[in-house]
Amino acid sequence: MNTRRVVVTGGAGFLGSYLCERLLAEGAGVVCMDNFLTGSPRNVEHLIGRAAFRLVECDLTGFVHVPGDVDLVLHFASAASPADYLRHPIETLKVGSIGTLHALGLAREKDARFVLASTSEVYGDPLEHPQRETYWGNVNPVGPRSVYDEAKRFAESLTTAYRNSHRADTAIVRIFNTYGPRMRPHDGRAIPTFIRQALRGEPITVTGDGTQTRSICYVDDTVEGILALADSDFEGPVNIGNPAELSMLSLAETVRRLAGSDSPIHFVDRPTDDPEIRRPDTSLASSRLGWAPKVDIVDGLSRTISWFMDELREPEKLVRR
Ligand code: NAD
Repeated sequence: MNTRRVVVTGGAGFLGSYLCERLLAEGAGVVCMDNFLTGSPRNVEHLIGRAAFRLVECDLTGFVHVPGDVDLVLHFASAASPADYLRHPIETLKVGSIGTLHALGLAREKDARFVLASTSEVYGDPLEHPQRETYWGNVNPVGPRSVYDEAKRFAESLTTAYRNSHRADTAIVRIFNTYGPRMRPHDGRAIPTFIRQALRGEPITVTGDGTQTRSICYVDDTVEGILALADSDFEGPVNIGNPAELSMLSLAETVRRLAGSDSPIHFVDRPTDDPEIRRPDTSLASSRLGWAPKVDIVDGLSRTISWFMDELREPEKLVRR
């Protein structure tokens, strides 16, 4: 029986809520800390009331205190969708810097393992393809996306400094685009946007000419990879993502087909510094963690579309989210 106690920062967000759920299912105690900037208590409402689960409203950039023992800190607090971090630029920089400092401090105080949720965005608009963990990235430090990319690069650096200076037990996971049920229909990321538009029969808006690529990973696979890293003694950084790469246009067409929609596809302007290509090299995750994604795109998108169908049928949910 697993009796460890885990703090999940950003636990009421998309990925964090799945981590809380999985950890509870394994028998762990979970403290979910969130300020609900982009997440919602609704994501964990099915867990509230369980003896092993605590939801704490807390801003990681302020005072952070957790009574009792903690074995593992999963630091996932941060706006993650471009629409969110462009709406909250300072908050994103603060949670990536001050919030990470506090989460590392908590892990150090409790002598707990610490896992930083980093991102493929540290590679920026990559000049190496696919991206290996040894690649240093190509990020514009004053571009609009820098509030997220540079916050995560700083967070990686701070985590490494804690490891080297304080002998803290840390790990860094570089997560590539992940999708699945519980994403907010209006969070601005491509998959929820395409699905919402397709289900409502509205034009599907593809940016640029749609030839730019992404690699998308179903949430269950990403969560398996994160927990495999947490349970190992590997420090990373390690890529977790699905190496199957597809263009944004073919993603839009696949969503349209699976949703049974006849929405037209409209091409709109590309955001500044939008990466041209993105594909993880996952050989390190495979060799060090024995991890590989299992859910194929059609299966993952079908599950996600079914969830959105229920979600969009109840308009009051959309107002709350
Ligand atoms: P999300 O926006 O759904 O979740 C982030 C959570 O952090 C939200 O619940 C939000 O309220 C909370 N939060 C933000 N600032 C906070 C603060 N100061 N104090 C406390 N809580 C705060 O995003 P997500 O997609 O679940 O991403 C979770 C983490 O994974 C992020 O760190 C993100 O950078 C990383 N990540 C996600 C993806 C992805 O595809 N989903 C890819 C790469 C990295």
